[in-house]
Amino acid sequence: MKNFLYESQPARVIFGAGSLAKVSDELQVLGAQKALVITTTDLANLAQEVAGLIGDLCAGVHAEAVQHVPIETVGKALDRVRSLGIDVLVAVGGGSAIGLAKAVALETSLPILAIPTTYAGSEMTPVWGITENGLKKTGKNLIVKPKTVIYDPKLSVSLPARLSVTSGMNAIAHCVEGLYSENANPIISLFAEEGIRAIASSLPQICANPNDLNARSEALYGTWLGGTVLGTVGMALHHKLCHVLGGSYNLPHAETHTVVLPYAVWYNAGHAPEAIKAIARALKADESDVAGSLFDLSKSLGVPTSLAEIGMKEKDLDQAAELATKNPYYNPRPIDEKSIRHLLEYAFAGKRPVQAASL
Ligand code: NAD
Repeated sequence: MKNFLYESQPARVIFGAGSLAKVSDELQVLGAQKALVITTTDLANLAQEVAGLIGDLCAGVHAEAVQHVPIETVGKALDRVRSLGIDVLVAVGGGSAIGLAKAVALETSLPILAIPTTYAGSEMTPVWGITENGLKKTGKNLIVKPKTVIYDPKLSVSLPARLSVTSGMNAIAHCVEGLYSENANPIISLFAEEGIRAIASSLPQICANPNDLNARSEALYGTWLGGTVLGTVGMALHHKLCHVLGGSYNLPHAETHTVVLPYAVWYNAGHAPEAIKAIARALKADESDVAGSLFDLSKSLGVPTSLAEIGMKEKDLDQAAELATKNPYYNPRPIDEKSIRHLLEYAFAGKRPVQAASL
């Protein structure tokens, strides 16, 4: 076994159907007096329900979070926090709601209690992001990592099947890249393999019956594992490509992860044998066809499998390859512009990866 460094981050996790009912008790554990509930517009009703459960400790609901945390939304939320004398942020929703709470925490050091309703996994990471003048700045700071996370699978039942699948593929991507990370370690690899298994096995069940609470619980459990992987070890080519495609061409976050993942795995397969074995075990797939199996999973569940389908323009592929290779970063297989252009061409067309043939 290789030497390794493992650093765990504090997390208090309350998991299970109906655990939303514990939100008030959990705020008391944090010593909070005045909470602001932060969410996206479409989840305003859920946020009101949370406010009702919190009762006197709730000072307001702020249903103005939007994707990628534009700096203007941070300013508005900060004004609200300061004028109300808030001492805790309750983020209800996906990565967008949690992202806004993190941006506020970065300025104020306020604790966050997160109640995730998608599978993006932001609640388990110290990563924040803020978009200004069309550019998304990201950074890591433990101050923004939620102190408490309530995972209640009942809250994800309303997540449409298509969004459940793409969000789930986003969580699988965290696990996949954790397995071949520069600072991969046996503990995080356990989380990653189990995360892939839990999510990949539950997504078909969720599509068949979005109300299946067992499947929703498995997916949320996998989300927690994937978020922990993302928050603990470094990512590689897949996350870099998604950052470039989302940031520069405004492609949707979860769908971009869904489309790119099989191609990133294909690209890295020959340089990450242990990771490929673990993914194969988790997917119950053939080691020589892991990239194709991830592609098949998405295809069989009816979500996009090509960049063309999610709004990428063919004329932008050259520039995207250049942007994704401009600055050096870790990847198990060395990166060069020509090979990444080739990868993007396959991803654009949505051709099924053939792992045996090199990309
Ligand atoms: P999202 O939070 O934007 O949610 C997508 C849509 O689904 C929103 O309109 C939301 O209101 C709605 N929604 C959420 N939960 C629902 C539910 N249960 N039922 C019905 N509708 C629901 O999407 P996301 O994929 O969760 O998050 C994406 C954002 O999070 C991106 O900006 C991404 O960069 C960020 N992110 C950050 C990290 C991190 O560690 N900082 C990790 C993952 C994602």
